[in-house]
Amino acid sequence: MKNIVLFGPPGAGKGTQAEVLKEKYELVHLSTGDMFRYNIKNETELGVLAKSYMDKGHLVPDEVTIKMLNAEVEKNAGANGFIFDGFPRTEAQAASLAELMESKDSQINAMVALEVDDEILVGRLLKRGETSGRSDDADESIIRERIAEYYRKTDILKAFYQAQDKYHGVDGVGSIEEITDRLSAVIDTL
Ligand code: AMP
Repeated sequence: MKNIVLFGPPGAGKGTQAEVLKEKYELVHLSTGDMFRYNIKNETELGVLAKSYMDKGHLVPDEVTIKMLNAEVEKNAGANGFIFDGFPRTEAQAASLAELMESKDSQINAMVALEVDDEILVGRLLKRGETSGRSDDADESIIRERIAEYYRKTDILKAFYQAQDKYHGVDGVGSIEEITDRLSAVIDTL
């Protein structure tokens, strides 16, 4: 199995790249943000809970996020490997993911991070908000709060994977194809 954490702040292009890479490497793409939005659309209990955090630009609590992610991994037992997009976002999530992979006699092979300056992120997310229909993309103060939450809780995961020699930073500014090529150059070495 090849298991990749696609990492980066909100607006770095994780979702876009994951869609391309899942086809190229025949991996299952798991996005916790998409899972929450699916639950919101279907008005589930989990969706109502998640929305109360997402609308403020805050992270959904670890306990519910981890439980949801684990269930999705279990549903894809035969997978060639996974691209994790938007997970893990906290140290507790990273530790839990390592444990889950270990229970499958597998591991996270790499964290591949898209590096993009904050002001470019804000611009991209405001632009996406014109068409995405996402309430968390529609308001600059919520966008800035999501980026602040990234620095408070998520950025530290670079060190978590660096300590295991699994961190690979990639320039996240350029055309979609250019960035796919940069990511592929890393993935091909795994
Ligand atoms: P995303 O689609 O990855 O930008 O995520 C949208 C929102 O969903 C985030 O701002 C969080 O509120 C929530 N979310 C997504 N993934 C996670 C996660 N791994 N942990 C906690 N909250 C998450």
